[in-house]
Amino acid sequence: MKKRLQTTPPDKFARQVSDGAVTLTVEATKDNRLRKSIRWTLKQETIQVRFPAHISTAELDRLLEDIIDRVRKQRARARQQNDDDLEQRAQAINTRYFQSELQWHTIRWVGNMKRRLGSCTEGGTTDGDIRISDRIKHWPDYVIDYIVAHELAHRKYPNHSRAFWDYVARYPHTERARGFIDGIAFAEGDDPEALI
Ligand SMILES: [Zn+2]
Repeated sequence: MKKRLQTTPPDKFARQVSDGAVTLTVEATKDNRLRKSIRWTLKQETIQVRFPAHISTAELDRLLEDIIDRVRKQRARARQQNDDDLEQRAQAINTRYFQSELQWHTIRWVGNMKRRLGSCTEGGTTDGDIRISDRIKHWPDYVIDYIVAHELAHRKYPNHSRAFWDYVARYPHTERARGFIDGIAFAEGDDPEALI
């Protein structure tokens, strides 16, 4: 019986694809610990992919196309979110969970927070300025809502006291969202407390 020859991909390779005017880099690495599934993460403009040893070039190419397609959709969704949307989101959360009792000055997306996901200033000339890292724009909605709820809740409790956590828990997906953030921090070797 003749065996059909299947080409296998190199252990490590990089590829560039476009997303509008932006160039995305796909970095693919073989990972012998993986049995069948492929894993990927998006860091800024780089898609890091790990693939199992026993995969054909054709199959890997097909999976990479799916991933690139998903990343393009995520990025398109992220681009649509602006500061007005964020303000509306904050108002909706304030009304729904905090009886509209919280007040803030501005809430906006920022691109210069390297580590933190959100911040809220207390006192001084920037009192009540809430900043949300645009790194989270493509994260699930329930996580974005949690981060907004967390920073809003700091308007009442500018600390991480027991009273603060009881208050922020009015947002019903708090535990799930904190689990998501713990997972991100773990993957990055970071401390979740340093993120938010
Ligand atoms: Zn906090």
